[in-house]
Amino acid sequence: MGLKTFLMKVIETIDDMRQVRRKLTEPVGFVPTMGYLHEGHLALVKRARAENQSVVASLFVNPTQFGPRGDFKQYPRDTERDLALLEKEGTAIVFMPSVAEMYPEQFDSWVEVGKLTERLEGASRPGHFRGVTTVVAKLFNIVEPTRAYFGQKDAQQLVVIKKMVADLNMNLEIVTVLTVREPDGLAMSSRNTYLSPDERQAATVLYQALTLVQQLYSQGEKDAQRLRQEITSLIQEEPLANIDYVSIADPVTLDELDRVKSPALISLAVRIGSTRLIDNIVLQ
Ligand code: AMP
Repeated sequence: MGLKTFLMKVIETIDDMRQVRRKLTEPVGFVPTMGYLHEGHLALVKRARAENQSVVASLFVNPTQFGPRGDFKQYPRDTERDLALLEKEGTAIVFMPSVAEMYPEQFDSWVEVGKLTERLEGASRPGHFRGVTTVVAKLFNIVEPTRAYFGQKDAQQLVVIKKMVADLNMNLEIVTVLTVREPDGLAMSSRNTYLSPDERQAATVLYQALTLVQQLYSQGEKDAQRLRQEITSLIQEEPLANIDYVSIADPVTLDELDRVKSPALISLAVRIGSTRLIDNIVLQ
């Protein structure tokens, strides 16, 4: 009968979140985010809604996953807009704790995944994954979701979180959602707002490089080193781009490959001006 109205609850403390959680109808889908939402985040919320009776999203810019260079303070924030978007998507609960709520002064326990976090993003951003796995483990303990939704955009993060869940016997399912892109192929990211118009144009080189590998692979090129070289040359033609890494790896172990076999994870980190962007595809 008519339109359903959603009265979304915004919760700021762990105690309140636990209380509300007990009353939610199962199954509960959970979408952790750092806010400044775009269509990529909303794809996770939509999927969670389609597969669960209740949806909880979190908005928390997690200080422990940022390096010491001030990126945490600079990270874009727009809570009002985020809440409006989440309400529109039918989110039941938004968990929005303060930093002090999540990391009280005496906080001193960490969740660390081993080898998988030493390469790629982990090599470029020391301590990043320790911050990610710690906050995600805390959020899982607080929200106790049936399923949690993560974007393929952050491919290594997904692999690391799946490993943590398996190794530590966490009682939930991790669901992967495909990367949502702008019409020109650029993967949506809160960081895209840092790009000047020239840089925004230059940023399309990431997806062009990924498309090129897909093409060469389909045409029969299986030599991973040659493919890495092709990607590198294409990106180097863009004057505003500086490569951090180009990887062709096993999608589960993240070990670099000599011969490409399917599936393979092609992932890139490229600085466009001073903004570091990542993207990936899985070759099938
Ligand atoms: P963030 O707010 O950047 O921590 O991202 C929160 C979640 O949204 C993570 O699981 C990301 O992988 C996911 N996400 C970010 N961008 C995209 C995108 N373009 N497509 C799909 N998922 C995304």
